[in-house]
Amino acid sequence: MLVLVINCGSSSVKYNLIETDQERDVCKGIVERIGAVTSIIKHDQPGKPLIKDAKVITTHSEALQAILDFLLNEKNQIISSPSDIRAVGHRVVHGGEMFKDSVLIDDVVKDAIEQAFDLAPLHNPPNLKGIEAAQERLPGIPHVAVFDTAFHHSLPDRAYLYGIPNRLYRRHKIRKYGFHGTSHYYVSRKYYSLSGINREKSRVITCHLGNGASIAAIKGGESIDTSMGFTPLSGMVMGTRSGDLDPSILFYLVEKEELQLNSLHSMLNRHSGLLGLSGYAADMRDLIEEAKNGDRRCQQAIDVFCYNVKKFVSTYIGVLNGCDAILFTAGIGENSPMIREKSLEGMDGIGVEIDPERNRGAKPGEITKISTDASKTEIYVIPTNEELVIAIDAAKIASASGQSPWI
Ligand code: AMP
Repeated sequence: MLVLVINCGSSSVKYNLIETDQERDVCKGIVERIGAVTSIIKHDQPGKPLIKDAKVITTHSEALQAILDFLLNEKNQIISSPSDIRAVGHRVVHGGEMFKDSVLIDDVVKDAIEQAFDLAPLHNPPNLKGIEAAQERLPGIPHVAVFDTAFHHSLPDRAYLYGIPNRLYRRHKIRKYGFHGTSHYYVSRKYYSLSGINREKSRVITCHLGNGASIAAIKGGESIDTSMGFTPLSGMVMGTRSGDLDPSILFYLVEKEELQLNSLHSMLNRHSGLLGLSGYAADMRDLIEEAKNGDRRCQQAIDVFCYNVKKFVSTYIGVLNGCDAILFTAGIGENSPMIREKSLEGMDGIGVEIDPERNRGAKPGEITKISTDASKTEIYVIPTNEELVIAIDAAKIASASGQSPWI
């Protein structure tokens, strides 16, 4: 089935057109800088040169139209009619407590996504904008919402409750939700199929290390703990996000630097993490380069990042009572042997042994085993494919339309 996957940010629309039966990307691309003087459009068709264009695009709806114009253009030979697209899968970051699974979008679902605006103010509003734009441009086709939070719905209350008055959970739903669910789901399923392990008994730790980073403990196929929390700000140190810190630091800063709430928000989300630590860059490649040139703060940022990975992985080995496999994915996890090695160094005492040669030999885009034969825990690099998970879910739900799986 041909499925269009849409991922909307505040000023961008990313798309993937996927043939789900063959798990194949037909075309993908992005419209960036929506609302700026000129927007940038990129289309990437396998086996063809990347197409780049600049246009005036002021709304998400216009961006969707620009994408459809490209897909429908005869000379590109992609689709001949909008009805060739059988379903649209939308990435929605926050499903709150309501959505434990992907869902066919109707007005009730849209209302619920809107109700979660407060929980993900940077993500859910543009996600809903994208849904409305796509419904306008592609009417009569099933639209399906796939939530980043859904996979972590299986967390037990001991893992998702914070140590604050319980009425705040009841009144405001303040709890751990977890994110990157489609990625943690995808790489764990890949591991099950390649290893042939008995899934019911399996204990796996997935490390999604990209610009945003999160780690999950997966037991018997279900997420039982994860590093991100109420929002995607917590857990690991990330590109520009702080990750976990002592909440007292915020009170201290309000007093000492007279910071307002919005400055604190921006400091923690946009100016912290690797960028804040290094004072140089949020991008791991740049940090590695500068650390090689002797920059001490870039090296410190790398050290903190790897130590964060080690702490979460070690904790989750305890939580899972042992671990069959540790899986690395996303930009850093898939592409940096140095970060993988540094994150798991000195863990042979608890059965985790990375093989430096296999690790260095891992090729981008390929699944590679990087543990030693003696390691009790297998270690793999598994490239993620969140869009494929969204497409397959959308295809499944579109095929069974009429039946709403949300609670
Ligand atoms: P993502 O958010 O998954 O696209 O990942 C982006 C992050 O991956 C950025 O910090 C990049 O610097 C990092 N990254 C991509 N390729 C490499 C590489 N070869 N070595 C180290 N980091 C990389």
